[in-house]
Amino acid sequence: MVDVREVAPGVWHARAKHVAWVLLVEGGEVTLVDTGYPGDRDRVVASLEQVGRAPADVAAVVLTHAHPDHLGSAEYFRTQVGAPVLVHEREVPNATGERVEQVSVATLLARVWRPDVAVWMRDIVGLKAARAERLGAVDTFTSDPLDVPGRPVPAPTPGHTSGHSAFHLPEQGALLAGDALMTGHALVRTPGPQLLPSFFNHDDDRALDSLGMLAPLAADVVVPGHGPAFTGAPADAVAAAVAARVG
Ligand SMILES: [Zn+2]
Repeated sequence: MVDVREVAPGVWHARAKHVAWVLLVEGGEVTLVDTGYPGDRDRVVASLEQVGRAPADVAAVVLTHAHPDHLGSAEYFRTQVGAPVLVHEREVPNATGERVEQVSVATLLARVWRPDVAVWMRDIVGLKAARAERLGAVDTFTSDPLDVPGRPVPAPTPGHTSGHSAFHLPEQGALLAGDALMTGHALVRTPGPQLLPSFFNHDDDRALDSLGMLAPLAADVVVPGHGPAFTGAPADAVAAAVAARVG
């Protein structure tokens, strides 16, 4: 099941159980911002159908970062549909698998005594998290805004990974936060804007610093990679996330 809703004009937030992606619809074409877990493939296709489009209409895939829950179907769209896959230049090694930055299995197993971690791990194994297909070729951001449907403006926000990037949509009044900021996760009890649990962040202090990149951006809605959209300005979401971290 996937919940798809239009959070700003032409900006569709698609939420599966554990992760979200975004469809930027412009005319007959779509930019996919992130692509779910490998096991979310049918849900990605279903989300395209829900906005009246098909896989062949995907003109580009843009990744906030290359964790398995975001790059799940990127290689599929590149090889089967011919869509270029764009990442920040510092995310290239993560996208191709040359040097992967992600939480280790050992770190997760150290926490598996927690019932929520055990259930979540069982779910993500089912979503083929460990079998994410890395990219055979990637393109990097070379224009600002990107020359793809929706015209997203990269907002580099290192920390969660070295090459993580959020995307500002100034005309649509939206900020796509990726994993720079989230509002809900199976391993977190309190909803609302916050950083991911620190063990998911490659550099947790840097992730906190990067929130400062997002606060000044003008938008009416903040769309995270995990959890529901936050209605309000990025500055308010950032303030809540900083407070949650300090608290
Ligand atoms: Zn991530």
